Amino acid sequence: MALDGYIFNLEREYATYSNWYCENRHATPEKCRARAVLQVDEISVKVGHNHDSDQPSVKKRIVLSKLYKQAESSVEAPSSLIAEVLEGVSDEVKKSLPSKEVMAASFNEFRAKTYGNFSLTEMLVYNLISYQMPRPKAPF
Ligand SMILES: [Zn+2]
Repeated sequence: MALDGYIFNLEREYATYSNWYCENRHATPEKCRARAVLQVDEISVKVGHNHDSDQPSVKKRIVLSKLYKQAESSVEAPSSLIAEVLEGVSDEVKKSLPSKEVMAASFNEFRAKTYGNFSLTEMLVYNLISYQMPRPKAPF
C-alpha cells in the first residue's frame, strides 16, 4: 500500500489487523525499520522512516496499479482507460510513465493473460459473477 509517499509491503494478515513494513526494509546500506499497522480503516505508523518519501515514483506506481486493476475489471478500450487513469496526474509523474502506446500494449497483454481468449461479453459475464480463479500478478 502507499502511504504519504512511502510504499509498505504486507508482512502478515491477522483476523482484525495487518502488519506492513517499509519497502526499504532490505535496502542497503541503511535499512528502514518503519512499520505500519492497518486496522479496519485506521492506519498507524509505528516507527518513522530513515529516508525521504519519494512522491513521483510512488505516484507513478499508484497510476500503474490502477491501470492494471482496470484491465482486470473493465471491458473498455485501453486508450480510454489510460486517459481516465491519467486524469489529474501531474506532468512530473506523467513524464516518468511509459508512453501511452507502451502502456496500452502491456495493458492488452495483461488483459489477455487474465482472460485468455474470452470475448468481451464473456469477460463482462465473468466480472458480473465475480468467479474467482487464479490470476497472473500485475508486473508492477
Ligand atoms: Zn521507510
